[in-house]
Amino acid sequence: MANKRDYYEVLGVSKTATDEELKKAYRKLAKKYHPDANPDNKKEAEEKFKEVSEAYETLSDPQKRRMYDQFGPDGPQGFGGGGPGGGYYSYSTSGFDGFSDFGDLGDIFSSFFGGGFSGRGARQKAGPKKGRDLKYSMNITFEESYLGVEKEISINREEECPTCHGTKAKPGTTVETCRACNGTGTIKQTVSTILGQMQTTKTCPNCNGEGKVIKEKCPDCRGKGKIRKPVKIKVKIPAGISDNQTVVLRGEGEPGEKGGPKGDLYIVVGIKRHSIFSRNGDNVVCEIPITFTQATLGADLKIPMVDGKQENYKIPEGTQTGSKFTIRNKGFKSVNGNWSGDFIFTVVVQTPKKLTAEQRDLLNKLAKTMNEQPPVRKRGIFG
Ligand SMILES: [Zn+2]
Ligand SMILES: [Zn+2]
Repeated sequence: MANKRDYYEVLGVSKTATDEELKKAYRKLAKKYHPDANPDNKKEAEEKFKEVSEAYETLSDPQKRRMYDQFGPDGPQGFGGGGPGGGYYSYSTSGFDGFSDFGDLGDIFSSFFGGGFSGRGARQKAGPKKGRDLKYSMNITFEESYLGVEKEISINREEECPTCHGTKAKPGTTVETCRACNGTGTIKQTVSTILGQMQTTKTCPNCNGEGKVIKEKCPDCRGKGKIRKPVKIKVKIPAGISDNQTVVLRGEGEPGEKGGPKGDLYIVVGIKRHSIFSRNGDNVVCEIPITFTQATLGADLKIPMVDGKQENYKIPEGTQTGSKFTIRNKGFKSVNGNWSGDFIFTVVVQTPKKLTAEQRDLLNKLAKTMNEQPPVRKRGIFG
């Protein structure tokens, strides 16, 4: 997969292209490079066709597009979290397996092949098919996003029927080869299109592409081969995850068909607001109130950290309100690398509203030693 071209470049659109623009660009290119429309250099056309299809498949899915924009074409590197069958934060760029994953491509094709080309039906042979992907949203606290957390979630998902083990037939009954398609699951037909006569294949209606006819359906799943039930799954959320980022658990989706792989589980992680801390890039930021005597004389401050501990920090004499101080490497860990952001706090000088008689007396004495009102500060040209 070296030298993979940028998906936006492949489709000839800008990085800010809308869904409509993507669809339009894809439609144009798919029509141009469709192998059936290029009988003279089928091989080359097919390569191009795969490339634009892959680009469109990723960019037309908002979630995949976000990950692509974030991590580039090879996906995130170096995060060794490890889910079943591979890490987090990956997305599929491998799969050109017909049209089964391509969502609304059926309607794109039917619209320019005059309805004679049923995208889904035509390419979706009786072969293995990947199971459905599932989506799940969860919210975690700011501290959990900082430290990382393991959560157990419960999802309703289709599982292989334990009675028939996915065969759809009642145990002990016979399964016959479909006579309409001779067990291939597809039926060939010739149709007229704007590009001339084309041979297409469609799913056999007699067996629904199974190639087999089941005499007696499994009573427990009513012949579906699958049953829906709640399952508990442990999800490891890495330290440093940001709001709305997605954790992908490969193979935790629904079961595939005819030996195809399981789908994936996409977990969108939302992060709750914190009353003190917020996040800016990989930095933790917060405000720390100080008294005007601390600001004037300098002070040893105790700074609350996200992990519940405290850090000592010495601010100098003459600290101005709004000054920022940085504690290195106490920000968020990056989910892909080994480095951390910083903890940055802004001091805010609190002017006292109530004074004791003694304090007022002391301040009055102090005031007499100070200059008149300070001169108005000039604004810096670059400031
Ligand atoms: Zn069953
Ligand atoms: Zn059939």
